[in-house]
Amino acid sequence: MKLILRSLYNRVIRNKLLSQLKNVRIDASSVCQLDCPLCPSKKEIKSGIVGWGYLKFSDFKQFIDINSQISEIELSNWGEIFLNPELKEIIKYAYSRKINLFADNGVNFNSVSEEVLECLVKYGFKRIIISLDGANNNSYIKYRKRGNFDKVIKNIEKINFYKKKYKTELPQLTWKMILFGHNEDEANIAEKMAHNLEMNFTTSPNWVPSWSPLKGEKIKTDEPFDCSPPCSQLWLSPQINWDGKLLGCCANYWGDFGNVFKEGFEKCLNNEKYIYAKRMVMGKEKTRSDIPCSNCHHYQFQIIHSPIKIQDLL
Ligand code: SF4
Repeated sequence: MKLILRSLYNRVIRNKLLSQLKNVRIDASSVCQLDCPLCPSKKEIKSGIVGWGYLKFSDFKQFIDINSQISEIELSNWGEIFLNPELKEIIKYAYSRKINLFADNGVNFNSVSEEVLECLVKYGFKRIIISLDGANNNSYIKYRKRGNFDKVIKNIEKINFYKKKYKTELPQLTWKMILFGHNEDEANIAEKMAHNLEMNFTTSPNWVPSWSPLKGEKIKTDEPFDCSPPCSQLWLSPQINWDGKLLGCCANYWGDFGNVFKEGFEKCLNNEKYIYAKRMVMGKEKTRSDIPCSNCHHYQFQIIHSPIKIQDLL
């Protein structure tokens, strides 16, 4: 038993079996056109190690040509993927390599070209979660500043038009509504609208409850307030920045673990800091200030008391 656990531990800690790593996350765009009050995009993200930029098609192609075991890629993280001018090529190439694409971290869906809308359907983009915090433009723009609710709905209708044209269910669309004091009364209307648009519907809490606080006693949301830390991504679905920096998880914007596009994926996954970070979140090493996790609220408030277990990764 001890031997089995040891070999599992080595496998899990060292990422020796890169060939088994099928999922990655590559941020297609860290740039965003909206100005949501609680989003760090225009401050910490733009000026920090993530920076503002787009994933280049040439980097994407080279990465998946070399790492041919990859079969699923999450493209959304800090910005709006539809601002990437080479997104069409990325979607087409992923399709030709039988790679499933996701935008589960969310998109605002305000500015999507007709060509890209058609591509999403034609080339089987798997799933898109659309942030729509309201049931009309008045409440929507209170948080999604510079956005336009009606434009988003039009883009969803166009997707539905192409789905009929190509006789496909893909991409699956989800309407995700963050509940605030200014929109909580509209959740039922939004849910009906979502169903009429053949979308799934989910609500999520505002992570800064004091901003436009909920008026209701205790509103039930589909997602909990204390969302679980994404540390397991270090093993199961490492986050890569648009420019190739290995970030490890989608929450990290404090430091990187080398550049995957320049040094290679395997080398970065096996660098000393990356392995230390994994051991740190498993509670097997002390906090070290040059490891990005030491800045992370998930680590400071949760992981340090309740580290990741091997079982969480299987
Ligand atoms: S502690 Fe924070 S930065 Fe480190 S892996 Fe977990 S979520 Fe990511």
